[in-house]
Amino acid sequence: MRKKLVAGNWKMNLSFREALDLTAKLRSEFHPSDKVDVAIAPSFPYLYPIVKMLEDNEINVLAQNMHWADFGAYTGEVSAPMLRSVGVNSVILGHSERRLYFHETPEILQKKVNRAILEDFHVIFCIGEKWEDRKAGKHIEVIQNQIAGSLFKLELQDWNLITLAYEPVWAIGTGQTASPEQAQEMHSFIRRLIKNKYGSETANQVRILYGGSVKPGNAAELFAQPDIDGGLIGGASLKANDFLAIIQAAKEAG
Ligand code: PEP
Repeated sequence: MRKKLVAGNWKMNLSFREALDLTAKLRSEFHPSDKVDVAIAPSFPYLYPIVKMLEDNEINVLAQNMHWADFGAYTGEVSAPMLRSVGVNSVILGHSERRLYFHETPEILQKKVNRAILEDFHVIFCIGEKWEDRKAGKHIEVIQNQIAGSLFKLELQDWNLITLAYEPVWAIGTGQTASPEQAQEMHSFIRRLIKNKYGSETANQVRILYGGSVKPGNAAELFAQPDIDGGLIGGASLKANDFLAIIQAAKEAG
């Protein structure tokens, strides 16, 4: 039985003060649960203070990105050893905004994933098709290529560190969510793909999150699908009450 995971991707939002206030509210209202894990991904400058605030709490802190090298002449970048040194050991990779605006290709993402695994980091790896891919009936092929292109050189045991997040690009920040049936269809395809490559045990244990305009009003029906193991939440993770309601929906579905 896979435990649900609800992760908040704060993106490039919130002032420092607002980030601390949101963390404080989540800290006081989220109680550890055997049904759901919770994580938040603040911006880099806020990671260390938020890790400190959550030291005695089970909310995990994620980075939104990292570089593939350990150290070196990469102005403006942040590496896994740097993140570890401030108490972070999990990262989101492959978000569609990174692919779109920063030209992160499957090859670049493969290097990042490899570094993350080498450093024993947990990775939430995002995949998702654009609307034109779906309209052209190519959504399955796109997802297959994204997964195979960055993850299929991993060793079997590396999958203990991988969580997938299916985020159709047309549903991110648009208010247009994939229907539970559309999401379930893709999640079950992804699980079959993993099964064919790595076997049933790995396929059954890997968590596959859904992301794309998840809100308190639609979380329960998405999380009720058999292959949806929680959510990666953008906009709604910036409002404590909405994020807590989504966590509650995951708990009830779990
Ligand atoms: C995201 O960008 O990961 C995301 C799911 O955003 P939103 O929930 O705002 O659609």
